[in-house]
Amino acid sequence: MSWETVIGLEIHVQLNTHSKIFSAASTAYGAQANTQACAVDLGLPGVLPVLNAAAVRKAIQFGLAINAKIADQSIFARKNYFYPDLPKGYQISQYELPIVEHGQLEIVLEDGSRKVVGITRAHLEEDAGKSLHEDFEGMTGIDLNRAGTPLIEIVSEPEMSSAKEAVAYMKKIHSIVRYLEISDGNMQEGSFRCDANVSVRKQGATEFGTRTETKNLNSFRFVERAINYEIERQIDVLESGGEVVQETRLYDADDDSTRSMRSKEEANDYRYFPDPDLLPVKIEAELLEELRAALPELPDAKQQRFCSEYGLSEDDARQLTVSKDIATYFEQVVKHGNGQAKLAANWVLGEVSAALNQAAIGIEQSPVDANRLGLLITRIDDNTISGKIAKEVFQAMWTSESSADEIIEQKGLRQISDTSELDAIVSKVVEENPKQVEQYLSGKDKVFGFFVGKVMQATKGKANPKQVNELLKKKLVK
Ligand code: ADP
Ligand code: MG
Repeated sequence: MSWETVIGLEIHVQLNTHSKIFSAASTAYGAQANTQACAVDLGLPGVLPVLNAAAVRKAIQFGLAINAKIADQSIFARKNYFYPDLPKGYQISQYELPIVEHGQLEIVLEDGSRKVVGITRAHLEEDAGKSLHEDFEGMTGIDLNRAGTPLIEIVSEPEMSSAKEAVAYMKKIHSIVRYLEISDGNMQEGSFRCDANVSVRKQGATEFGTRTETKNLNSFRFVERAINYEIERQIDVLESGGEVVQETRLYDADDDSTRSMRSKEEANDYRYFPDPDLLPVKIEAELLEELRAALPELPDAKQQRFCSEYGLSEDDARQLTVSKDIATYFEQVVKHGNGQAKLAANWVLGEVSAALNQAAIGIEQSPVDANRLGLLITRIDDNTISGKIAKEVFQAMWTSESSADEIIEQKGLRQISDTSELDAIVSKVVEENPKQVEQYLSGKDKVFGFFVGKVMQATKGKANPKQVNELLKKKLVK
């Protein structure tokens, strides 16, 4: 029997305001436990929350970036539940009138096709504190520094149909919030995390199957694995005659599985009601226009521009625009690299990104900055060195401060440009290998590569491959 999958994601994004959403306490990450929670965050009697305007602006920016409707009036609500890391006994969130509704974004699937995913809503809310289980034998520690950190919760329509689609969607959201600079998007620190709702149904069925929700996935890899695990588990349950239970589940990265946390029967009734301490949020048209006008060029627009302005393939343009840092780096390289956009793209996506991966650093920390790479590309373009030698130069640049020119001189890597010198080498190679000449002349075209290899060997790679090809073709005629 064949099954289809339905996935909806709820993504929590911490907004990078300096202070909390309803208090003046700092949101900086990594402080000593419980030093950054003030009376408001602790929910002490008599305190009043005051809304942080910067959080509202950032939520609106997100809404504009996904072409959503921004509510001219939105309301904060109390979501009541008991948990040790929630000192007030309720979380201030939005329920009936969220600030952002009806957005969408486009993802690109592996086969290159595109799909629009609807975003139901994005609402503002406060983060809870953190329960700490390590370092406390038989006890749980509570750190309330995170309590009151502003979040937007972005709720998708149940419109994704594979783990790959869900990851593409999540990456796109990540890219957008980083472009907007409304969040640091740091997944290890929990600034960007996701709950995955998954259900399966028989192919062609019109009703959704029962879903489970796997909580707090903080890496793209975990999202993909948790969803795939859930799909298989649910299909197994259904195929063996059972029923999927609607429940909240936890992903365990150690054995790559999910397990039940609480079922629907135990689920909280949140008893939402408007928070009487907070006024409705009214958004004036001028503010919307101000924020709209200040929106940066976003990934889709940048990608299109990279295709038209630099003549890049869609795929290259997309990879180069995943992050603003990569895109900026690339454009700098083109500028300093004789305008050689295709070459620059190949280098940024090839050699540079491999070296960054190996060193586990981001492009903003690259030891070879865009200007230095630009010069290297200029030297490939003006035939001072071949692309192959350039890789050697690049490795030397990576571990030193030297420029491409300095390394080329120091190591004597300049391409042989003197035709007579190269001509002599080519003649010698042809003379020394009569057997291969015979083979080539009798129609074995592949032997041509052998000669190219020999010439390159003799010149230590310093010959211009194009020139070598031309000279060999002239020498090896019947
Ligand atoms: P809740 O508020 O109880 O979490 P919502 O109806 O707001 O429930 O949905 C939360 C998320 O679950 C949304 O992203 C939605 O797209 C997704 N979702 C809803 N029903 C299903 C389903 N049957 N299968 C998969 N995802 C679903
Ligand atoms: Mg939910």
